[in-house]
Amino acid sequence: MDQNFQNLLKKYAELAVKVGLNLQPGQKLILQHLRNGGVPIETAPFIRELVASAYRAGSPLVDVQWRDDEVNLIRLREAPRDSFGEYASWRAQGVLEVIENGGAMFTISAIDPDLLAGQDPKVLDEQQRTFLENWKPISVHIGKNTMNWTVVSIPVEGWARKIFPDLPPEEQMPALWEAIFKICRVHEDDPVAAWETHLTNLKKRADYLNAKAYRELHYTAPGTDLRIGLPEGHIWRSAGFETRGGIPFTANIPTEEVFTLPDRHHISGTVRSTRPLVYTGNVIDNFSLTFKEGKVVDFSAEQGEKVLENLLNTDEGASMLGEVALVPDSSPISQSGLLFYNTLLDENASCHLALGGAYRFSLEDGENMSQEDFASHGGNTSLVHSDFMVGSGELDVDGVLEDGTVESVLRSGEWAF
Ligand code: ZN
Ligand code: ZN
Repeated sequence: MDQNFQNLLKKYAELAVKVGLNLQPGQKLILQHLRNGGVPIETAPFIRELVASAYRAGSPLVDVQWRDDEVNLIRLREAPRDSFGEYASWRAQGVLEVIENGGAMFTISAIDPDLLAGQDPKVLDEQQRTFLENWKPISVHIGKNTMNWTVVSIPVEGWARKIFPDLPPEEQMPALWEAIFKICRVHEDDPVAAWETHLTNLKKRADYLNAKAYRELHYTAPGTDLRIGLPEGHIWRSAGFETRGGIPFTANIPTEEVFTLPDRHHISGTVRSTRPLVYTGNVIDNFSLTFKEGKVVDFSAEQGEKVLENLLNTDEGASMLGEVALVPDSSPISQSGLLFYNTLLDENASCHLALGGAYRFSLEDGENMSQEDFASHGGNTSLVHSDFMVGSGELDVDGVLEDGTVESVLRSGEWAF
Protein backbone atom coordinates (compact mmCIF):
# COMPACT_ATOMS: atom_id res chain seq x y z
CA MET A 1 0.00 0.00 0.00
CA ASP A 2 1.24 3.46 -0.84
CA GLN A 3 2.83 5.28 2.07
CA ASN A 4 0.85 8.48 1.62
CA PHE A 5 -2.45 6.60 1.65
CA GLN A 6 -1.43 4.62 4.73
CA ASN A 7 -0.59 7.92 6.41
CA LEU A 8 -4.03 9.35 5.63
CA LEU A 9 -5.68 6.16 6.92
CA LYS A 10 -3.77 6.60 10.15
CA LYS A 11 -4.78 10.28 10.46
CA TYR A 12 -8.42 9.33 9.82
CA ALA A 13 -8.25 6.60 12.49
CA GLU A 14 -6.66 9.04 14.97
CA LEU A 15 -9.43 11.54 14.22
CA ALA A 16 -12.08 8.89 14.92
CA VAL A 17 -10.45 7.88 18.22
CA LYS A 18 -9.53 11.37 19.50
CA VAL A 19 -12.35 13.62 18.25
CA GLY A 20 -15.05 11.03 17.51
CA LEU A 21 -14.77 8.78 20.56
CA ASN A 22 -12.42 10.80 22.74
CA LEU A 23 -11.46 7.37 24.06
CA GLN A 24 -10.20 7.54 27.62
CA PRO A 25 -7.29 5.51 29.04
CA GLY A 26 -8.73 2.34 30.60
CA GLN A 27 -11.87 2.31 28.41
CA LYS A 28 -12.68 -0.89 26.54
CA LEU A 29 -13.87 -0.46 22.96
CA ILE A 30 -16.30 -2.47 20.82
CA LEU A 31 -16.35 -2.08 17.01
CA GLN A 32 -19.55 -2.86 15.10
CA HIS A 33 -21.82 -1.73 12.30
CA LEU A 34 -24.78 0.59 12.66
CA ARG A 35 -27.30 -1.25 10.50
CA ASN A 36 -26.46 -4.91 10.83
CA GLY A 37 -24.17 -5.48 13.74
CA GLY A 38 -20.78 -6.28 12.18
CA VAL A 39 -17.79 -4.55 10.60
CA PRO A 40 -17.38 -5.65 6.94
CA ILE A 41 -14.24 -7.77 6.53
CA GLU A 42 -13.13 -5.70 3.54
CA THR A 43 -12.66 -2.63 5.77
CA ALA A 44 -9.85 -4.43 7.67
CA PRO A 45 -6.98 -2.08 6.56
CA PHE A 46 -8.72 0.87 8.21
CA ILE A 47 -9.96 -1.15 11.18
CA ARG A 48 -6.39 -2.26 11.99
CA GLU A 49 -5.27 1.41 12.10
CA LEU A 50 -8.21 2.22 14.33
CA VAL A 51 -7.44 -0.66 16.70
CA ALA A 52 -3.80 0.50 16.92
CA SER A 53 -4.89 4.05 17.63
CA ALA A 54 -7.30 2.85 20.35
CA TYR A 55 -4.58 0.86 22.12
CA ARG A 56 -2.23 3.86 21.88
CA ALA A 57 -4.97 5.88 23.62
CA GLY A 58 -4.77 3.42 26.50
CA SER A 59 -7.65 1.02 25.86
CA PRO A 60 -7.09 -2.32 27.66
CA LEU A 61 -9.23 -4.28 25.16
CA VAL A 62 -10.48 -3.53 21.64
CA ASP A 63 -12.99 -6.07 20.32
CA VAL A 64 -14.06 -6.21 16.66
CA GLN A 65 -17.36 -7.79 15.58
CA TRP A 66 -16.75 -8.84 11.97
CA ARG A 67 -19.28 -9.48 9.28
CA ASP A 68 -19.21 -10.73 5.69
CA ASP A 69 -21.97 -9.34 3.47
CA GLU A 70 -21.58 -12.33 1.12
CA VAL A 71 -22.47 -14.66 3.98
CA ASN A 72 -25.68 -12.71 4.53
CA LEU A 73 -26.49 -12.92 0.80
CA ILE A 74 -26.12 -16.71 1.05
CA ARG A 75 -28.55 -16.71 3.96
CA LEU A 76 -31.06 -14.62 1.99
CA ARG A 77 -30.78 -17.06 -0.93
CA GLU A 78 -30.68 -20.41 0.83
CA ALA A 79 -32.25 -20.17 4.30
CA PRO A 80 -35.83 -21.32 5.00
CA ARG A 81 -38.26 -18.47 4.17
CA ASP A 82 -39.74 -18.46 7.68
CA SER A 83 -36.38 -18.23 9.48
CA PHE A 84 -35.61 -14.49 9.27
CA GLY A 85 -36.86 -13.82 12.77
CA GLU A 86 -33.72 -15.65 14.01
CA TYR A 87 -30.82 -13.58 15.33
CA ALA A 88 -27.50 -14.40 17.00
CA SER A 89 -28.34 -12.44 20.14
CA TRP A 90 -24.81 -12.78 21.59
CA ARG A 91 -23.77 -10.03 19.16
CA ALA A 92 -26.04 -7.47 20.80
CA GLN A 93 -25.18 -8.89 24.26
CA GLY A 94 -21.46 -8.45 23.51
CA VAL A 95 -21.96 -4.77 22.71
CA LEU A 96 -24.11 -4.28 25.82
CA GLU A 97 -21.50 -5.93 28.04
CA VAL A 98 -18.92 -3.35 26.94
CA ILE A 99 -21.08 -0.21 27.04
CA GLU A 100 -22.83 -1.06 30.32
CA ASN A 101 -19.43 -1.43 31.98
CA GLY A 102 -17.97 1.93 31.03
CA GLY A 103 -16.68 1.07 27.55
CA ALA A 104 -17.04 2.99 24.29
CA MET A 105 -18.62 1.99 20.96
CA PHE A 106 -17.15 2.58 17.51
CA THR A 107 -19.61 2.24 14.68
CA ILE A 108 -18.85 1.91 11.03
CA SER A 109 -21.08 3.03 8.21
CA ALA A 110 -20.06 1.10 5.08
CA ILE A 111 -22.57 -0.44 2.77
CA ASP A 112 -23.02 -1.26 -0.89
CA PRO A 113 -26.39 0.41 -1.53
CA ASP A 114 -27.20 -2.14 -4.26
CA LEU A 115 -26.18 -5.19 -2.24
CA LEU A 116 -29.74 -6.21 -1.42
CA ALA A 117 -31.39 -5.05 -4.64
CA GLY A 118 -33.71 -7.71 -5.99
CA GLN A 119 -34.14 -9.47 -2.63
CA ASP A 120 -37.64 -10.11 -1.32
CA PRO A 121 -38.66 -6.89 0.53
CA LYS A 122 -40.75 -8.93 3.00
CA VAL A 123 -37.75 -11.04 4.02
CA LEU A 124 -35.48 -7.97 4.24
CA ASP A 125 -38.07 -6.19 6.31
CA GLU A 126 -38.32 -9.11 8.75
CA GLN A 127 -34.53 -9.41 8.99
CA GLN A 128 -34.18 -5.66 9.65
CA ARG A 129 -37.01 -5.64 12.19
CA THR A 130 -35.44 -8.59 14.05
CA PHE A 131 -32.10 -6.81 14.12
CA LEU A 132 -33.67 -3.59 15.41
CA GLU A 133 -35.59 -5.44 18.13
CA ASN A 134 -32.41 -7.15 19.31
CA TRP A 135 -30.51 -3.86 19.24
CA LYS A 136 -33.20 -1.89 21.04
CA PRO A 137 -31.33 -1.83 24.40
CA ILE A 138 -28.28 -0.44 22.56
CA SER A 139 -30.41 2.26 20.88
CA VAL A 140 -31.71 3.21 24.32
CA HIS A 141 -28.13 3.71 25.55
CA ILE A 142 -27.35 5.78 22.42
CA GLY A 143 -30.44 7.94 23.07
CA LYS A 144 -29.31 8.52 26.65
CA ASN A 145 -25.61 9.02 25.84
CA THR A 146 -24.64 6.38 28.37
CA MET A 147 -21.31 5.94 26.59
CA ASN A 148 -19.06 7.78 24.14
CA TRP A 149 -19.70 6.52 20.61
CA THR A 150 -19.06 7.62 17.06
CA VAL A 151 -19.98 6.71 13.48
CA VAL A 152 -17.42 6.93 10.67
CA SER A 153 -17.78 6.05 6.95
CA ILE A 154 -15.44 3.57 5.30
CA PRO A 155 -15.43 2.76 1.56
CA VAL A 156 -16.34 -0.71 0.31
CA GLU A 157 -16.10 -1.72 -3.36
CA GLY A 158 -19.78 -1.94 -4.27
CA TRP A 159 -20.35 1.45 -2.71
CA ALA A 160 -17.46 3.08 -4.61
CA ARG A 161 -18.81 1.58 -7.86
CA LYS A 162 -22.24 3.09 -7.14
CA ILE A 163 -20.83 6.61 -6.65
CA PHE A 164 -18.28 6.54 -9.48
CA PRO A 165 -19.82 4.26 -12.14
CA ASP A 166 -17.94 6.04 -14.94
CA LEU A 167 -14.44 5.55 -13.52
CA PRO A 168 -12.36 2.46 -14.35
CA PRO A 169 -12.88 -0.14 -11.55
CA GLU A 170 -9.38 0.27 -10.10
CA GLU A 171 -9.93 4.03 -9.63
CA GLN A 172 -13.28 3.79 -7.83
CA MET A 173 -12.07 2.94 -4.32
CA PRO A 174 -9.24 5.56 -4.35
CA ALA A 175 -11.76 8.17 -5.57
CA LEU A 176 -14.15 7.40 -2.70
CA TRP A 177 -11.35 7.44 -0.13
CA GLU A 178 -10.19 10.80 -1.51
CA ALA A 179 -13.74 12.23 -1.27
CA ILE A 180 -14.07 11.03 2.32
CA PHE A 181 -10.66 12.38 3.35
CA LYS A 182 -11.65 15.73 1.85
CA ILE A 183 -15.06 16.10 3.50
CA CYS A 184 -13.63 14.87 6.82
CA ARG A 185 -10.82 17.46 6.67
CA VAL A 186 -8.19 14.69 6.91
CA HIS A 187 -5.85 16.58 4.52
CA GLU A 188 -5.38 19.35 7.09
CA ASP A 189 -1.96 19.28 8.80
CA ASP A 190 -3.73 18.82 12.09
CA PRO A 191 -7.22 17.38 11.47
CA VAL A 192 -7.90 17.19 15.21
CA ALA A 193 -7.37 20.97 15.61
CA ALA A 194 -9.41 21.72 12.45
CA TRP A 195 -12.28 19.72 13.90
CA GLU A 196 -12.14 21.53 17.21
CA THR A 197 -12.65 24.87 15.40
CA HIS A 198 -15.45 23.47 13.24
CA LEU A 199 -17.27 22.01 16.26
CA THR A 200 -17.05 25.34 18.10
CA ASN A 201 -18.72 27.08 15.12
CA LEU A 202 -21.55 24.54 15.04
CA LYS A 203 -22.11 25.01 18.75
CA LYS A 204 -22.50 28.78 18.22
CA ARG A 205 -25.34 28.15 15.73
CA ALA A 206 -27.05 25.82 18.19
CA ASP A 207 -26.68 28.36 21.02
CA TYR A 208 -28.32 31.06 18.87
CA LEU A 209 -31.29 28.83 18.02
CA ASN A 210 -31.66 27.78 21.67
CA ALA A 211 -31.80 31.44 22.75
CA LYS A 212 -34.57 32.06 20.17
CA ALA A 213 -36.67 29.04 21.27
CA TYR A 214 -38.84 29.21 18.12
CA ARG A 215 -42.22 27.54 18.55
CA GLU A 216 -42.51 26.67 14.88
CA LEU A 217 -40.39 26.35 11.73
CA HIS A 218 -41.89 26.98 8.30
CA TYR A 219 -40.21 25.30 5.31
CA THR A 220 -40.82 26.44 1.74
CA ALA A 221 -39.20 25.10 -1.44
CA PRO A 222 -40.44 23.63 -4.74
CA GLY A 223 -42.92 20.91 -3.68
CA THR A 224 -42.55 21.81 -0.01
CA ASP A 225 -44.76 23.83 2.31
CA LEU A 226 -44.37 22.38 5.77
CA ARG A 227 -44.96 23.67 9.30
CA ILE A 228 -43.11 21.92 12.11
CA GLY A 229 -43.94 22.68 15.74
CA LEU A 230 -41.05 22.63 18.21
CA PRO A 231 -41.98 21.50 21.72
CA GLU A 232 -41.35 23.50 24.86
CA GLY A 233 -37.93 22.56 26.20
CA HIS A 234 -36.51 21.47 22.82
CA ILE A 235 -32.72 21.70 22.65
CA TRP A 236 -30.74 22.40 19.46
CA ARG A 237 -27.60 20.33 19.42
CA SER A 238 -24.59 19.71 17.25
CA ALA A 239 -22.83 16.34 17.18
CA GLY A 240 -20.58 17.51 20.03
CA PHE A 241 -22.06 15.50 22.92
CA GLU A 242 -21.18 14.58 26.45
CA THR A 243 -21.76 11.22 28.14
CA ARG A 244 -23.69 11.07 31.39
CA GLY A 245 -20.31 10.60 33.06
CA GLY A 246 -19.01 13.84 31.49
CA ILE A 247 -16.82 12.62 28.59
CA PRO A 248 -17.18 14.95 25.54
CA PHE A 249 -17.35 13.12 22.19
CA THR A 250 -18.50 13.64 18.57
CA ALA A 251 -21.17 11.19 17.48
CA ASN A 252 -20.64 11.55 13.72
CA ILE A 253 -17.64 12.29 11.55
CA PRO A 254 -18.25 14.19 9.39
CA THR A 255 -20.96 16.35 10.90
CA GLU A 256 -22.30 19.66 9.63
CA GLU A 257 -25.73 19.72 11.30
CA VAL A 258 -27.52 21.36 14.19
CA PHE A 259 -30.67 19.51 15.14
CA THR A 260 -33.53 19.15 17.59
CA LEU A 261 -36.78 17.24 17.92
CA PRO A 262 -40.15 18.29 16.50
CA ASP A 263 -43.42 18.18 18.40
CA ARG A 264 -44.80 14.85 17.12
CA HIS A 265 -48.37 16.14 17.01
CA HIS A 266 -47.75 19.50 15.34
CA ILE A 267 -46.53 18.87 11.84
CA SER A 268 -48.66 19.77 8.85
CA GLY A 269 -48.22 20.25 5.13
CA THR A 270 -46.16 18.58 2.44
CA VAL A 271 -42.44 18.03 2.10
CA ARG A 272 -40.52 16.85 -0.96
CA SER A 273 -37.24 14.93 -0.71
CA THR A 274 -34.19 16.46 -2.42
CA ARG A 275 -31.85 13.43 -2.34
CA PRO A 276 -32.45 9.67 -2.40
CA LEU A 277 -32.97 7.78 0.85
CA VAL A 278 -31.34 4.35 1.10
CA TYR A 279 -33.29 2.08 3.44
CA THR A 280 -32.49 -1.63 4.01
CA GLY A 281 -30.28 -1.39 0.94
CA ASN A 282 -33.07 -0.08 -1.27
CA VAL A 283 -33.25 3.37 -2.82
CA ILE A 284 -36.33 5.54 -2.28
CA ASP A 285 -36.17 8.57 -4.54
CA ASN A 286 -38.15 11.69 -5.42
CA PHE A 287 -40.72 11.17 -2.72
CA SER A 288 -43.27 13.38 -1.07
CA LEU A 289 -44.85 13.10 2.37
CA THR A 290 -48.00 14.89 3.51
CA PHE A 291 -48.54 15.35 7.25
CA LYS A 292 -51.65 16.09 9.23
CA GLU A 293 -51.50 16.52 13.02
CA GLY A 294 -48.02 15.03 12.96
CA LYS A 295 -48.78 11.87 11.03
CA VAL A 296 -48.06 10.96 7.39
CA VAL A 297 -51.50 10.81 5.75
CA ASP A 298 -50.34 10.60 2.15
CA PHE A 299 -47.13 9.68 0.34
CA SER A 300 -45.76 8.96 -3.10
CA ALA A 301 -42.35 8.05 -4.52
CA GLU A 302 -41.02 7.88 -8.08
CA GLN A 303 -38.73 5.04 -6.97
CA GLY A 304 -39.07 2.59 -4.05
CA GLU A 305 -42.64 3.44 -3.07
CA LYS A 306 -43.18 -0.07 -1.62
CA VAL A 307 -40.02 0.23 0.50
CA LEU A 308 -41.22 3.61 1.74
CA GLU A 309 -44.56 2.06 2.63
CA ASN A 310 -42.81 -0.71 4.62
CA LEU A 311 -40.71 1.88 6.42
CA LEU A 312 -43.79 3.96 7.32
CA ASN A 313 -45.59 0.83 8.57
CA THR A 314 -42.74 -0.44 10.79
CA ASP A 315 -44.65 0.79 13.85
CA GLU A 316 -46.83 3.72 14.89
CA GLY A 317 -43.93 6.14 15.33
CA ALA A 318 -42.40 5.36 11.93
CA SER A 319 -44.95 7.59 10.18
CA MET A 320 -44.13 10.54 12.46
CA LEU A 321 -41.06 12.74 12.75
CA GLY A 322 -38.29 12.50 15.35
CA GLU A 323 -35.64 14.97 14.14
CA VAL A 324 -35.34 18.38 12.47
CA ALA A 325 -31.83 19.24 11.29
CA LEU A 326 -30.39 22.34 9.61
CA VAL A 327 -27.32 22.21 7.37
CA PRO A 328 -26.25 25.05 5.04
CA ASP A 329 -26.16 24.16 1.35
CA SER A 330 -22.50 25.29 1.25
CA SER A 331 -21.37 22.35 3.45
CA PRO A 332 -18.27 20.53 2.09
CA ILE A 333 -20.41 17.47 1.35
CA SER A 334 -22.93 19.43 -0.67
CA GLN A 335 -20.04 21.19 -2.43
CA SER A 336 -18.44 17.86 -3.35
CA GLY A 337 -21.41 17.52 -5.72
CA LEU A 338 -21.49 13.80 -4.96
CA LEU A 339 -24.42 11.69 -3.94
CA PHE A 340 -23.08 9.13 -1.46
CA TYR A 341 -26.12 6.84 -1.11
CA ASN A 342 -25.18 6.84 2.57
CA THR A 343 -27.26 8.64 5.16
CA LEU A 344 -24.37 9.64 7.41
CA LEU A 345 -22.75 11.56 4.55
CA ASP A 346 -25.77 12.70 2.58
CA GLU A 347 -27.64 13.94 5.66
CA ASN A 348 -24.72 16.24 6.33
CA ALA A 349 -25.00 17.70 2.85
CA SER A 350 -28.42 19.02 3.46
CA CYS A 351 -31.24 19.99 5.79
CA HIS A 352 -33.04 16.83 6.82
CA LEU A 353 -35.89 15.37 8.80
CA ALA A 354 -36.11 11.88 10.31
CA LEU A 355 -39.01 9.48 10.27
CA GLY A 356 -39.12 7.63 13.57
CA GLY A 357 -37.70 8.04 17.04
CA ALA A 358 -36.46 11.29 18.58
CA TYR A 359 -33.26 11.51 20.61
CA ARG A 360 -34.08 11.92 24.31
CA PHE A 361 -31.27 14.44 24.71
CA SER A 362 -33.06 16.79 22.28
CA LEU A 363 -35.54 17.61 25.05
CA GLU A 364 -34.88 19.17 28.45
CA ASP A 365 -34.77 16.35 31.01
CA GLY A 366 -35.84 13.93 28.22
CA GLU A 367 -33.34 11.30 29.37
CA ASN A 368 -35.18 10.93 32.69
CA MET A 369 -38.75 10.86 31.38
CA SER A 370 -40.93 7.75 31.10
CA GLN A 371 -41.97 6.88 27.54
CA GLU A 372 -45.46 8.30 28.21
CA ASP A 373 -44.01 11.52 29.60
CA PHE A 374 -41.65 11.91 26.66
CA ALA A 375 -44.55 11.33 24.24
CA SER A 376 -46.80 13.86 25.98
CA HIS A 377 -43.99 16.44 25.64
CA GLY A 378 -43.97 15.82 21.88
CA GLY A 379 -41.19 13.20 21.69
CA ASN A 380 -41.66 10.42 19.14
CA THR A 381 -40.67 6.78 19.78
CA SER A 382 -40.09 4.13 17.11
CA LEU A 383 -37.79 1.24 16.23
CA VAL A 384 -36.59 3.25 13.23
CA HIS A 385 -34.83 6.58 12.82
CA SER A 386 -34.49 7.28 9.13
CA ASP A 387 -33.08 10.62 7.96
CA PHE A 388 -34.24 12.02 4.64
CA MET A 389 -32.97 15.10 2.85
CA VAL A 390 -35.13 18.13 2.19
CA GLY A 391 -32.47 20.84 1.84
CA SER A 392 -31.32 22.57 -1.35
CA GLY A 393 -30.26 25.96 -2.61
CA GLU A 394 -33.97 26.68 -3.00
CA LEU A 395 -35.04 26.06 0.59
CA ASP A 396 -36.18 28.89 2.86
CA VAL A 397 -36.84 28.28 6.55
CA ASP A 398 -38.59 30.76 8.82
CA GLY A 399 -38.71 30.63 12.61
CA VAL A 400 -41.83 31.70 14.48
CA LEU A 401 -41.15 33.22 17.91
CA GLU A 402 -43.42 32.66 20.92
CA ASP A 403 -45.13 36.05 20.27
CA GLY A 404 -45.80 35.18 16.61
CA THR A 405 -42.94 37.22 15.09
CA VAL A 406 -41.50 35.54 11.99
CA GLU A 407 -37.71 35.58 11.42
CA SER A 408 -35.46 34.20 8.68
CA VAL A 409 -33.43 31.15 9.64
CA LEU A 410 -32.32 29.96 6.19
CA ARG A 411 -32.52 31.80 2.86
CA SER A 412 -31.79 29.93 -0.38
CA GLY A 413 -30.26 27.15 1.70
CA GLU A 414 -27.81 29.36 3.66
CA TRP A 415 -27.86 30.61 7.24
CA ALA A 416 -29.74 33.91 7.43
CA PHE A 417 -28.20 34.93 10.77
ZN1 ZN B 1 -29.34 14.50 11.69
ZN1 ZN C 1 -30.94 11.55 12.26
